[in-house]
Formats: sequence, structure tokens, C-alpha cells
Amino acid sequence: MRYRWVLWGALAAANAGAQSRYLGYTPASTVAERTVEQRMQRLVSARSLSRLHAPLAARPHPAGSAGSRQVITYLDSALRSFGLTVERHDYQVHLSAPRRVQVTLTGPATRELVLSEPPLAEDPTSSHPELGPGYIAYSASGDVRGEVVYANYGLPADYDTLRARGVDVTGRIMLVRYGRSHRAVKVHTAQGAGARAVVLYSDPADDGFVKGVAWPGGYWRGEEMLQRGNAKLSWYFHGDPLTPGVAARGDAPRLDPATAPTLPRIPVVAISWGEARHILSALGGVEAPALFAGRVPGVAYRLGPGPATVRVQVQMDDGLRPITNVVATLRGRTEPDRVVLLGGHHDAWTFGGVDPGTGSAALLELARVLGQMARGGWRPQRTIQVAFWDAEEFGLIGSTEHAEHFRDQLREQLITYVNTDMYMRGRFDAGGVPSLRDFVVDVARSVPARGGSVFSDWAAQAARARPGAIPELKALGSGADFVPFQDFLGVPTLSIEFIGANGYGFGTYHTNYDSRAYVEQVADPGFQQGVILVKTLGALALRMANAEVLPFRFGHYGEKLEAGMATLVDAMRGRSISDTAPTAELLRLASRVRTAGTALDQAMDRRLAQGGLRAARRRLVNDRLAKAEQTLIDASGENTWYQHVVQGWNIYSLYDGQLFPAAHKALRGTDVAAFMAETMRVRAALDRLARWLEETLAIVNGGA
Ligand SMILES: [Zn+2]
Repeated sequence: MRYRWVLWGALAAANAGAQSRYLGYTPASTVAERTVEQRMQRLVSARSLSRLHAPLAARPHPAGSAGSRQVITYLDSALRSFGLTVERHDYQVHLSAPRRVQVTLTGPATRELVLSEPPLAEDPTSSHPELGPGYIAYSASGDVRGEVVYANYGLPADYDTLRARGVDVTGRIMLVRYGRSHRAVKVHTAQGAGARAVVLYSDPADDGFVKGVAWPGGYWRGEEMLQRGNAKLSWYFHGDPLTPGVAARGDAPRLDPATAPTLPRIPVVAISWGEARHILSALGGVEAPALFAGRVPGVAYRLGPGPATVRVQVQMDDGLRPITNVVATLRGRTEPDRVVLLGGHHDAWTFGGVDPGTGSAALLELARVLGQMARGGWRPQRTIQVAFWDAEEFGLIGSTEHAEHFRDQLREQLITYVNTDMYMRGRFDAGGVPSLRDFVVDVARSVPARGGSVFSDWAAQAARARPGAIPELKALGSGADFVPFQDFLGVPTLSIEFIGANGYGFGTYHTNYDSRAYVEQVADPGFQQGVILVKTLGALALRMANAEVLPFRFGHYGEKLEAGMATLVDAMRGRSISDTAPTAELLRLASRVRTAGTALDQAMDRRLAQGGLRAARRRLVNDRLAKAEQTLIDASGENTWYQHVVQGWNIYSLYDGQLFPAAHKALRGTDVAAFMAETMRVRAALDRLARWLEETLAIVNGGA
């Protein structure tokens, strides 16, 4: 064992040092905190986790359904029984459900394609009577016919390839495989190119037997499994499509669905590869280039157009439906008005065994443990809340409405938001703002996992990419309820999960088979991974809630800003507009953040090693540390919902985050005016952050 420590070198030494004093704690308060966290860890139970999970995956429960009301009632009563205070928040939002979805191969031969998923003997709930056909939420209604063109992943570059090969897509029906971007990007691109409808399917090359054994039995997607989902164009704004920026309360002003910018204008459907095979085998025309070729057996991929023709009939039943967020609170003892919020969603396309059942069960178990700890009179210093959002699957609606509804209060009180959508057996997957990286490392060191710690697993992953590297948080793009907290509110945000080989796209993702059976056999047999996750979430929540000095570190944020700025400057050079942009100044500002951040980190460490900050300063300093992220928010941009100037989503990836997202977007569109305007916002934001950190340092040094 000893040689492993030598291998870890500096990391191991730092590890030993850090654990004698937690980040944000004095040596004395570390001892007390360790006792609290160890008690929490002892109370976490796999049996309880399994028991809490079962009712969450018993019945299909998409947002707005009877099954969903049942889950809401269950969450509410379970959380009350744990001794926590529970609030429900209701909204009226525009949801989307199918009246009729039909796809018919009309030529050369006629065949009606199957849009439902068959019951499987190995997966008992798959015969549940409330299961319906697969559909894509927010698809336009319509009855369209046309020749089929196969467009690979359906991204702009794929359309460039089609054009280069002389394939005209106007008025055609696009057959597009899942992968590499959100489905809405595929729909929007097809719509913009003049296509009449989109048929999405999951190719086994990306998500199926080519990768490994399919369900039942294995992790991957089977021949008859299709991927539901929403096709909302969420890069305009997240949440309810009719009430951008404000809570969808009964009296809120609403957009007209006919012109609401996030709603697609053409019909979209999803099918399995088993059904897509009938279309693919009937396609002729131009031979597909190698990059377009998938792995559906027996198919020589061709682009079309035709001779395959398809009729797509979609009749949607869209309208205002009630949704409900459930929020449980354990009030803090000394600072009840400062809050650590953990959340995930409770709605599911079908059973939500994994997505979100594993995540919700983990949050429920944590709530149970906190409730039990509080029974003897113990309280955290600050308030801890656990939230269960509705209608995430329709595009982060519940969490967004919450963020919009309580915007000012959340910006004032929320010190960190931690999202857990789902988990499964696999690797530690942590994302978030760079100021929380050192904190997550510190916490991960004290949570045991597989003979080591969550940190040792995580560090081993990072070291595979770059030997000796300290793990980093991935930038959060999109795909889960962290988005409104990070991008709309500017609250320091984390996403904490464990994920398998295909990440969020595990084999039964958004199918009828995302079931309890899949969880018990594949995702987390025995709920052992869940126990590790609950301990991690518990340690994050408690340590943040009890810290003497909030454990934010800005030196690393500065490093990430420098790296992100270097990437942006490279992209500018690629577009030959670096001459007109103040590149030197932007790089200098990023360095100024690093310098100020590092000085602040060190000053804080010194104070804590010597016994801490004077009580009179502590609240002011902590508020400044928690609100530093908000200096990067600016509502004056082209997009008033995505207010974060630094953090955001690269939509031409699946869910990846990208630093300076609006600047990159303007560059991609070679919109020089928009780029220059964005440059000014970036410059102002970095200047605000640097000044904020310098002023905070002056306060700390001015006599703590
Ligand atoms: Zn989910």
C-alpha cells in the first residue's frame, strides 16, 4: 500500500494536511464537524434507500399525470414523517402530451411503424396499463408526407455534407440519429433547413449492442427501445415556454404558444432502431459517407432522398397543467437565513427507476438522516433544504419556476445549490463553478468508497487524463436542474452524481424499461453506490452549512478564467477578429482574478489556522464569498434569461458547459457586432469579480 502514497506524492501530503483542518474550518471546529459528519455517515442505510426508492418507481409519473400527483403526495408525507418542514409550490405550465402519434412507411412498401415498447417478461412493470407510445414533447402537430433524407446526427455540419453531396432537404422528412447534441438542436437545424418533420432514432453504434449487452440483462439499449424527451429550444430560456423570466403563477402574463420562441414548428417523433431499420433499408440515393454510417444490422447507409417515403402524423394535446415542487427545510441554528439547497426532479417519462428515482431516493435518504439527527435537538448552523422539482423532463420547468418565483430571496440567501438528477454504479461525476472545486475535493477525501475514498476514485480518473492532476469540476452546461441556479440566478452551483459508461444516456434512458428491475440488476444492485452518494451529499451539505468561513476558493476560478480566455482568444484568431478585440486586456483581467483570488485564499487559510475570523466580520465576509459569483451575472445581454457571462451551455455538444458561451456563440455565427458587445460584458464582469475579491481581501486584512 505504501508505494501508492508515494505515487500520489503531493496529493497525498495535501490530503493528510487538509483533513486535519477542513476548508473553511479552524483546527478546533474541524474536530466538531468531523463528529457530526461521522454520525451522518453511520445513519445512511442501503436498506432504507431501497425502501424509499420503491414507491418512486412503481407507476409511470410524467409531469401533470395522476401518477405524478401520487409521487408528490408520497414525497410530502415521507419528508414530514422525517420531521422536516415541507412546502409545496404550485405552478400552471404549458405541458405537452400526445393524442395521436403515427409514423407510416408509405413507399416503396407500406408499413406502419411501432411506436410503443413491448412488455418484457424480465421487466415486470413494462406491461403497466398506463404506459403509452413514445413521443417527443412540444412536437408541433401535423400530418406530413415526404421523401426521407438520412442526416446522421442532424447537426449543421451534417447538413453541409448533405449539401456538398447534392442532397436537397427542402420539404423532406429527416431521419436523424440521437447523439452529440440535444434533440432540440437537431429539430431546430432541420426546421431551419426547410425540412417537414424529424424522425429521431437511437443507433446501436452510439447506444446499443455495439457497445455492450442490452437490457434485459445488460446496461445498453435494446432493439425495440426508443428515447422520449422534449424538443424545446431551451437556449432561448429554460422553464415554462410561456412565462420566460417570471413564475408561471395563475395570473402571470403568458406568451401565445403559436409564437413562443422555444416551441418547435415541425412534427418530431422518436423510434427504436428496430423500426428505423425499415426506413434505412428502403433508402436509396447517394451513398452515406463513412462518418454517417451507423451499425443497424443489414443496412448499407444511404442518404436518400427517397425512394423511401414516410407519413408522420402527430396530434398533440398541449395546454396549461398544474405542477408542484416539494421543498423540505431543516432550519439553521445561528444563520437560518443562509441556505444550502440540494435538489433533483421527481417527474419521469415512465417509471423513472434511474432517472430520477435513484437521485430522488438519495435525496430522500439524506432528508431522513438529517431529520433523525435533528430529533435529538441538533441543528446545522445554516439552513439545509432538500427540493424535488416537477417537470424537469419538459425542460427544467419546476426548478426554473422556483428560481424565477423566489429570485431575489434566493440571490440573498442561497449560498450553494447542489443538484443530483440520478446516479448509477460507476465513476464520480462532479460539475460546478470553479470556486467550489477545492471544497468538493476536501469533502470527497472524507467519504469512504471501495477501500479508498470518493476522492481517490476521482483522482485516479483525473490522473488517467493527466498524471498527477488534481481533479476539476466539469463546467455545467445543460441537461438538469442546475441550469436556472447557475445561469439565471448566479448562485454557486454543483452537480454531484455517479454515472456509468454512457453517462446520462444509459441504455433504458427515457424508455418503459427505466424501471425498478433495471436499478436492482444494473444501475445499483444492493443500493451500495447510493449509500456512497448520500454520504457525499450529506458531507457537502453539512460542511457548507457549518463552515466558519464559507469554503469558496477563487485562485482556481482565476486559473479556469485564464484558460477559458486563452481558448476564446484562440477562437478569435481563427475568425481573424482578434485585432479589433481587447485581447490583452481580457487576458490581463483573468490574471487579475487569479492573483486576487489566490491572495484571498491564502489570507483566509492564515486566519483559520490562527483561530478564525472575528465574529463581527464573519457574516460580511461570508456573504461576499457566496455572492462573488453574482458579479458575473449581467441581465443586459442579448439573452436576458442566460445572465451568466462566464458559465453556460455549448449547444453544439450534448450538455457540455463552455466558458464565455455568448462570446463563442457570436464567433460561431461570425457576428462581429454581437461579439464586440459581448466582449464588453465579459470585460465588465471580470473587472467586477476582480474588484470584489480585492475588496473582500481588504476587509479580511483590515482587522479580523
Ligand atoms: Zn433526470
